[in-house]
Amino acid sequence: KTFAEAGFSTELMKAIAKQSYEKPTPIQCQSLPIVLSGRDIIGIAKTGSGKTAAFILPMIVHIMDQPELAKEEGPIGVVCAPTRELAHQIYLEAKKFAKANGIRVCAVYGGMSKLEQFKELKSGCEIVVATPGRLIDMLKMKAVTMSRATYLVLDEADRMFDLGFEPQIRSIVGQIRPDRQTLLFSATMPRRIEKLAREILSDPVRVTV
Ligand code: AMP
Repeated sequence: KTFAEAGFSTELMKAIAKQSYEKPTPIQCQSLPIVLSGRDIIGIAKTGSGKTAAFILPMIVHIMDQPELAKEEGPIGVVCAPTRELAHQIYLEAKKFAKANGIRVCAVYGGMSKLEQFKELKSGCEIVVATPGRLIDMLKMKAVTMSRATYLVLDEADRMFDLGFEPQIRSIVGQIRPDRQTLLFSATMPRRIEKLAREILSDPVRVTV
């Protein structure tokens, strides 16, 4: 398998080449065609598998496909992750592919000034990478709206549940239109995550690596 088979744009292929990603990892091979076709996915995969690019690359394509991008406010792609460290890593991975395509990425997590994040969100972005608690704070402060969000990623869902973020996740999902595309990644699938998946994903494809 090659990245070219995914049908990525020249800009995106250049950005991938710049990272020296020669070929897709197993999780990328399995999930890219599914996610690019617009379907929901449950990915059972660990950090180190290349799962970040597996959801970021189709997110870039999804955003580039939106007509009249500049018209509305708020992110199109939203990623929730359990910790600052993971959110920051995802933010960095997203920036690698977003920049050349004119897509703005915002990181929203604890430990940074709320005012600074408020301002950054207000200035506009197409992708938000967040920890659930801080994203809720920003939604309450009306720093950001989910009105045009159509691509949602829940990364390390089991860890988010372990850290007690279930109510925040449910609240965030409840603010995003139901016809969105939803991607759920988890290293394990305990019953509570299965239940969440049944409730918030539509007819998902399950991928295990
Ligand atoms: P992740 O599992 O998303 O945390 O990714 C683990 C590491 O693999 C990160 O440093 C990525 O930049 C890198 N990576 C992701 N996809 C590829 C690929 N197709 N080829 C080589 N490295 C990759």
